Amino acid sequence: MTSPNDIPLTSILTCPSCGHQSQETMPTDACVYFFDCAGCGTRLSPKAGDCCVFCSYADTPCPPRHPGGCSE
Ligand SMILES: [Zn+2]
Repeated sequence: MTSPNDIPLTSILTCPSCGHQSQETMPTDACVYFFDCAGCGTRLSPKAGDCCVFCSYADTPCPPRHPGGCSE
């Protein structure tokens, strides 16, 4: 299921408030700015300088190709 050319599109998000972890699929064509924690209901948003919640809270940064998304 994995090949060297594949970017991993799932990532484990860890809530900074309660530590709840969930595996989420990252879209390749959009940034995820908000994520509601399933554990405590906190709405996560990216830290300053990060383009999406995956870059801030997940174990895998978002895919390096988000057309028109992350680079502004
Ligand atoms: Zn939480």
